[in-house]
Amino acid sequence: MSLLSAIVPCFNEEENIAYFYDAFVQNKPFFASKGIDYELIYVDDGSTDKTAENVLKLREKDPRVVLLQFSRNFGKEAAMYAGLQAARGDYVAIMDADLQDPPSLLPEMFGYLEEGYDQAATRRTTRKGEPPVRSWFARRFYHMINRYSKTEIVDGARDYRLMKRQVVDAILSVTEYNRFSKGIFSWVGFRTKWVEYENVERVHGKTKWNFWSLFLYAIDGIVAYTTEPLAIASFTGILFFVVAIIGIFVVIIRKLAFGDPTSGWPSLVCIILLVSGIQLLCIGIVGEYLSKTYLEVKNRPIYLLRQKVGQDEAPKEKEHKQENETGEQGGEADPLQAGKAYGKKN
Ligand code: UDP
Ligand code: MG
Repeated sequence: MSLLSAIVPCFNEEENIAYFYDAFVQNKPFFASKGIDYELIYVDDGSTDKTAENVLKLREKDPRVVLLQFSRNFGKEAAMYAGLQAARGDYVAIMDADLQDPPSLLPEMFGYLEEGYDQAATRRTTRKGEPPVRSWFARRFYHMINRYSKTEIVDGARDYRLMKRQVVDAILSVTEYNRFSKGIFSWVGFRTKWVEYENVERVHGKTKWNFWSLFLYAIDGIVAYTTEPLAIASFTGILFFVVAIIGIFVVIIRKLAFGDPTSGWPSLVCIILLVSGIQLLCIGIVGEYLSKTYLEVKNRPIYLLRQKVGQDEAPKEKEHKQENETGEQGGEADPLQAGKAYGKKN
């Protein structure tokens, strides 16, 4: 019997927990026919609603449900990483709780793994139901990052994917703090089959993204996967240096040859504004890279667990456990289970 681990990052998804479960278990007969059991790892990313309670309710019904609860909201990237660390499966799937990643695609995706692919990843062909401004900016972002980055970031790629163990281990070996998973998934390589589907709108609740958070996400991606902006900063610097040298010669010659009286203040002001604006922009670009480096160097854990429920009873050991053991542990957060091994205290 092999095992499939499904990872579901959840941030305030109380209404979707059970819906997702119902949709996911539709695949049970298919996986049973392939000799595959499953575990369903809900990662509660610091929700303030009843997400964790609802997961625990589900667990009463199905012990294959596992809850990882963060100490606060660490973001979806951290939630996916925590899920991957906890996953014990030979196959691992990452899926959104809002059913925008249809579980009904899993059999098809599994078929590709059987064919010999290492992972099956999904891509939306449409952005139906999304504000046009968001789509426009998203397109520009993908266009730009793919032009400069050596790592391909596929337009419309979702985080929804089904991977073999080898790919999961590769992703786990990338322990950076600023996680831009779309880049990491692509950076690790492996044979990937792209499965396309039309965008589905979320069943309940609202998206956690707004314009500002998407903008910051885009900056994260650019800073993580290309150093081109630094080159642009240097290039602009060189360009203005050359222009300035020529300008100085022109001014001196005009002064010596024609005794030109002082004039041209408006143009001078414009030039000062332009150049100082470009300088600030360049400092900002350098600052972005510096701040990311700063965060990496701090070496903080990617996430912290408040509790983990499930997975703790290894089947064989359980038989030897004392009789009063309930099997379920309101697990204590083990700092060693946090996103990174603690080297030092932060
Ligand atoms: N999510 C999360 N932590 C966050 C934000 C989102 O775990 O800080 C989860 C969320 O619960 C959902 C998935 O990530 O399961 C995708 O989020 P959302 O639907 O808001 O993004 P979209 O589908 O609009 O890209
Ligand atoms: Mg969604």
